[in-house]
Parts: sequence; C-alpha cells; structure tokens
Amino acid sequence: MAQLVLKNVFKRYEHQKKNIFEKKKVLDFAVKDVSYTCEDGEFIGILGPSGCGKSTTLRMVAGLESITNGEMYIGDVLINDLLPKDRNIGLAFEDYALYPPLSVYENLAFNMRAKNKSEEEIKQAIDYVAPLMKIDDLLNEKPTGLSGGQKQRVNIARAIVRRPGLLLLDEPLSHLDGKMRQQLRQEIKRMHHEIKCTTIIVTHDQMEAMSLADRIIIMKDGEVQQIGTPLEVYDNPENEFVAGFIGEPPMNLMKSTIVKSDKGFMFTFENSELKVEVPKRYTEVVRDGMKITLGVRPVDVIIAKTPVNSTPVPIAIFENLGDERRISVRVGDMLLSMTTAEDVYYTPGEEVQLIFQEERTHLFDPE
Ligand code: ADP
Repeated sequence: MAQLVLKNVFKRYEHQKKNIFEKKKVLDFAVKDVSYTCEDGEFIGILGPSGCGKSTTLRMVAGLESITNGEMYIGDVLINDLLPKDRNIGLAFEDYALYPPLSVYENLAFNMRAKNKSEEEIKQAIDYVAPLMKIDDLLNEKPTGLSGGQKQRVNIARAIVRRPGLLLLDEPLSHLDGKMRQQLRQEIKRMHHEIKCTTIIVTHDQMEAMSLADRIIIMKDGEVQQIGTPLEVYDNPENEFVAGFIGEPPMNLMKSTIVKSDKGFMFTFENSELKVEVPKRYTEVVRDGMKITLGVRPVDVIIAKTPVNSTPVPIAIFENLGDERRISVRVGDMLLSMTTAEDVYYTPGEEVQLIFQEERTHLFDPE
C-alpha cells in the first residue's frame, strides 16, 4: 500500500496549430498546477469532462508520460524519473490489452513470470485474485471468447495480481453497457474493500466517481476545481462549474441581480416578475445591484400547495419519468427545473408559486 503525493504538477504538450495558414507550434498545458494527496488505502476518483486532463494526470503517475514541472511521490520516494516498472503500480485501462494467444491464467501470470516469481507464488496470487474478480471459472479460456465485462474483470485481476502499492484505473467501465457496468462497479468496490490498495479511477461518469470514491478530484481545463468526499462536492460545490457538473438532473444556475427592497435583499431575474428572498446567511455578502448566480438543485424547489407570498410563474414543461416527475417553469429567458417523487400532474401554461429551500441554495460569482 502507498500514499501518493502530487505537488504542483504541470504537463505541457507541443502540437501543430490546426489552422493550416498558421503552421506554428503551440504549447498547451493539459495539466496545470495539480496538487493532491491520496492517502494510503484511499479510493480517489478523478472526474471531469472529456479533455480536462484526467488521463494525462494518471499517465504521469504511471510513468507513461513525463511531467513538465512539479514533483510526484509514492511514500517518501520521488518518482518523477522512475521507470513505470519500478513504481509498483497496477494499471487497467479502458481497452483490455490482454494477450490473445494466452489463456486467462497465463495473462495473469505474465508479469509475475517476468519478475521471476516461482510457479507456487504465481498460483497462490492467482488463486487469491480470481475469486475476488469472479473469474475463477475462466482461467483456462482465451480472451477472444470472453465478453467485454469478463475481459475487464481479467484486466483488473491482472492489475492487482502482483498486489501493487497503487492501482490506476482509466475509464475501466466505459466500454460496458448499463447493467454490466453497474455490476462491475460494485465488484470493484468490493475488491477495493478487500485488498485496500490505494486506487485512482479516472472517469467522466459522476455516478461512477460518486459511488466508488472516498474522495473526488474534479478537473476542468487541466486544473483542479475541487477535492472532497462525494457528499461535500454535492452539498457544497465550490464554484459554478462543480455545481453544474455534479448532480443529475443538474443544479439550476439562475443569473440574477440582487435588489434591496423594504423586505430585505431579493434575487430578481431578467424579464421575470419572480423575486426570491436572499437567505439570511447571505445578507452580509450581497449588495444592491450585485450580479450573482443563484444555484438550487431541482429537488430543493417545491411547488406551493396553498397560496404563498410569491409571484406565480407559468409551467413550461411537465415530464413524467416513472419514479419522479420533472417540472420546468419559465423565469424570464431561463428554465428552472424541479423534481418530485410525488404523484402530481401539471399542464403547461398553468401558473404555480414556488418555495425555495433556503438552506439548500448556493451563491456563485457569475463565470
Ligand atoms: P481527459 O482524460 O480528461 O479526456 P486528456 O488528459 O486525455 O483528457 O487530455 C487533456 C488535453 O491534453 C486535451 O486537450 C488533449 O487534446 C491534450 N493531449 C493529450 N495527449 C496529448 C498528446 N500526446 N499530444 C498533444 N496533446 C495531447
């Protein structure tokens, strides 16, 4: 097991500008000033949209990419210049890269043989990981006959068979479809619980990160936006990007102007009569005329059942999604969505009054 520390890590790629009239080389940072610590035994998820630098970060830790600047440590050892084979790392990527002519057993044994392990040690190690990844009955099969899910189980078993200090998983589930994906996700979680190996998973799927990771690192444009437990990033997003990225359906992010009235500070919205009281805890930080983004999750806005002191707004869209209903109202040029598990029905055009769960609202500087 191992602690991994990244200190101010940068990665710059040089590439040809796409514009054919301007054939100059440009330098782009794929990873900018990334610092974090994965504690011994921790499961970390690196989450973010495509191209935000997740894989580059992981590949640098694996030693498959050099780093432009910064320091990386496993335990006390500076690993910047260590060869991948000397980092005691297990890797499982999206494509399984199993050796087709070899049986599953031989695929698992391959790297151990390269390290001159005895047949007895190899067998013991495989006997331990095969049931863990539920591949015990596949050991004599060749990879070509296996399903995608089975191949990924073998791939992960191969990554952990040598009991690495650090396990790196890059989008291991993204080739798999719904049910298989969920099943393997649960098995990865169980496997981690059993072997307690420091693990990093790169994913663009928030469900995957939220369900697997102890802490999530959210990246955008090569930079870390927030590091926290799944609950922390959901309940207390540090900026508008994280707020909009985490949570399904996404948080409503409503551009507003603060107006001071005799009732106190109110959020107002362009081209709408709707006014929403600014929660008391924010009255110190807002001022009259301030432009701000109000963030509220769809579950935290409620349609009033009896009249309340709020401007009615028209229903724009009503969707019955089986186990929940999604209702969107028009607020000026914006749509504000709400979800409820209650068995309700609304028709578009119908006017409703809204109640905002004060303690669940967020303020963000407009981006
Ligand atoms: P992610 O894993 O979040 O999808 P990547 O780490 O793969 O993102 O890529 C981050 C950025 O670095 C992207 O803009 C990508 O185009 C760029 N990039 C990745 N690899 C290379 C490379 N070998 N040469 C030039 N640019 C690259």
